[in-house]
Amino acid sequence: MKRRTFFRSGLAGAAGITMLGTPALAGNGNSAEGDIVYRTLGKTGLKLPVVSFGVMRSDNNSLVKAAYEAGMKMFDTAHGYMNGRNEEMLGGFFSQVPRDSFVIATKVKPAGVDRAGLPTKETTAAGFIEQFDLSLTRLKMDYVDILYMHAADTVEMVRHKEIVNAMLDLKKKGRVRFIGISTHKNEPLVINTMAEDGIWDVVLASYNYRQTYLPELNSAIDKAASAGMGIVGMKTLAGGWLDRERTRPVNVQAALRWVISNPNVHTTIPGITAFDQLETDLKIMKDVMLTDQDKAELIAESDCPGLYCNACSNCVPGCPNNLPIPELMRAYMYAYGYRNAAMASELLSEISVKADPCAGCESCTSTCVRGFDLRGKIADISRLVNVPYDLLA
Ligand code: SF4
Ligand code: SF4
Repeated sequence: MKRRTFFRSGLAGAAGITMLGTPALAGNGNSAEGDIVYRTLGKTGLKLPVVSFGVMRSDNNSLVKAAYEAGMKMFDTAHGYMNGRNEEMLGGFFSQVPRDSFVIATKVKPAGVDRAGLPTKETTAAGFIEQFDLSLTRLKMDYVDILYMHAADTVEMVRHKEIVNAMLDLKKKGRVRFIGISTHKNEPLVINTMAEDGIWDVVLASYNYRQTYLPELNSAIDKAASAGMGIVGMKTLAGGWLDRERTRPVNVQAALRWVISNPNVHTTIPGITAFDQLETDLKIMKDVMLTDQDKAELIAESDCPGLYCNACSNCVPGCPNNLPIPELMRAYMYAYGYRNAAMASELLSEISVKADPCAGCESCTSTCVRGFDLRGKIADISRLVNVPYDLLA
């Protein structure tokens, strides 16, 4: 199937048949207060605007304040974002407003998970809880609303007894209201496993119009929603840009409305780092209808490889050096799409990549379903390995 045809079918399958052309407020679990469109986050019962705040790269609490005052309710951070400054910034602002007027989600990544996403003997509950305690201190809170196990992409992690029991215990003790998992690789497998296990309240999963396995992902999301799980969409803007030079932005309105057009996605967390982005997201929060023009623009964009790697791992078997290509491509997106070299550097360090890891390989035998120039991108991004982190952070 040609890429264009593939994306066309993805767009039709996911957005909608059921949703396209349907008034956004008619059914589909939506409700409205003022102009804002709300959905209920599964069995948590939390009623949230369809657009929430992805705080990951933001260190500006006046932006958070403006979003809060404009009606955004959920703010999503993680223990690892900005070396903790992200949680500290949120703690600074939210300690001044009533605790029940906002929802905080944070994530803790279990230590020692190997390149294949499998736990090792360093993957312990004690380490997980230690990090969570620090997150609460930074946030100046007694509890968080949602705690995710960060970036789990295997069944072994979803069912890691020690970590899962630690999360259930935190919930029992009231230090966490709801538990979940965040995943941006093997999402259908992770979500299906979570739905089967019945203990999870929420999943935070990558979801955007450029993903190449939308039928499987949509089916897993449907199953999880039927099981009562809350579904939060991330990576909704697919990297934000279509080119390394940032001359071609992804159409934010169309991309975000496309995600929201799935009624089983209860809210989304686009990253917000500037007031103009906030303004756009606030408009979409009130006007969610995916128009024919939006659809046409997404289809037109879909011919371009873009910066977003959907971590399908199709390229991995073709690489004799067994490079972690999806993570390298994600680091590339962080550097050029998000313009966040520090995040890219952190990821490269996590996956222990050397400078120019393709050296010694005569020609590239790995191919990407999107048509990425894998060797060129890897050579480009791995230069960061030689740049001291303190020059980037
Ligand atoms: S050139 Fe291609 S096949 Fe060779 S190491 Fe790099 S990604 Fe792998
Ligand atoms: S680089 Fe291409 S083939 Fe490899 S995981 Fe990403 S999208 Fe899939």
